[in-house]
Amino acid sequence: MTAVTFTETGPGRRGDSFLSVQDLHVSFSTEDGVVKAVDGLSFEVEKGTTLGIVGESGSGKSVTNLAILGLHNSEHAEIGGEIWFEDQELVGASRGTLERLRGNRIAMIFQDPLTALSPFHTIGRQIGEVYRKHKGTSKREARDRAIEMLERVGIPNAKVRVDDYPHHFSGGMRQRVMIAMALVCDPALVIADEPTTALDVTVQAQILDLLKDLQDQMGTSIILITHDLGVVAQTAHNVLVMYAGRAVERGTVREVLGTPRHPYTWGLLSSVPRLGSSVDVPLKPVRGTPPSLLNPPPGCRFHPRCDYRNLVGPDLCSTEQPELSPERGHGDACYLTLQQKQEIHTQLMEGR
Ligand code: SF4
Repeated sequence: MTAVTFTETGPGRRGDSFLSVQDLHVSFSTEDGVVKAVDGLSFEVEKGTTLGIVGESGSGKSVTNLAILGLHNSEHAEIGGEIWFEDQELVGASRGTLERLRGNRIAMIFQDPLTALSPFHTIGRQIGEVYRKHKGTSKREARDRAIEMLERVGIPNAKVRVDDYPHHFSGGMRQRVMIAMALVCDPALVIADEPTTALDVTVQAQILDLLKDLQDQMGTSIILITHDLGVVAQTAHNVLVMYAGRAVERGTVREVLGTPRHPYTWGLLSSVPRLGSSVDVPLKPVRGTPPSLLNPPPGCRFHPRCDYRNLVGPDLCSTEQPELSPERGHGDACYLTLQQKQEIHTQLMEGR
């Protein structure tokens, strides 16, 4: 399987990869001012791999993915930078181009299928409509395709259940229906936004396994948006950690979860239980709250919550914004030296 690579590329350059996001900026006008939801984000994804994007609410992870789907057609949003998908630049693309891509080459799986599926139509009709719209097939062919997809995602007795309505299904089965609908046109990219958050742990594991199996069969790339590092560890090849609209760490799952370098990533990892650690060891959530994106802190946006800024020269963290480095591979946006990062991480691990 091809690995996902990340590069820092400037605006104007078209990446060679399958999906290339370059210097993305997304802001919204509100009554209180301009919210800078994403501020200078770059990453690339190659075919057939999963990129996990993690961060707290308001970190910009969902907005990034809505931008890939064409959010900028909203009159309240402003978007800058470039998003290259296959041979198409999406930031400057027309509404018609985006509509042809959405549901066809790029599909979305939402957290709550009940809000994404219409309660008034059978699931067969809803899955089939997506197929007919993009492939121009007959109703009969679309229905056959819907049954085929329901079988692929493990819905028993698909030939009968195709005529059921969403409320006839359990939460886990509804999420399988959503996955069938997302994959019906054989998309190249699936964006899954917290796809298992509403499910219990057993069903969550089944859905993640299903996504992995379908990815292996169909070669689909997946962007998995989640706040759950366990889901990332189980599913993703690579990770992008976002904080307050910016990337603060990126790398393979092994690098970012095994030898994390950014204080925010340490905080995320300290706030979840570790397999094998004593139950007496308390979890340590990141102190404080995420900043307002109406008026984000100057310098490193994490500095008001960071316990290590005193190790960096006076005022640097609160005045100068650190950039993600190096250009490729495991990178982070923090002024601590690599040696300091390694020593602090070792101490944190010994304390758990
Ligand atoms: Fe903390 Fe400074 Fe690193 Fe930001 S740059 S994470 S404030 S040490």
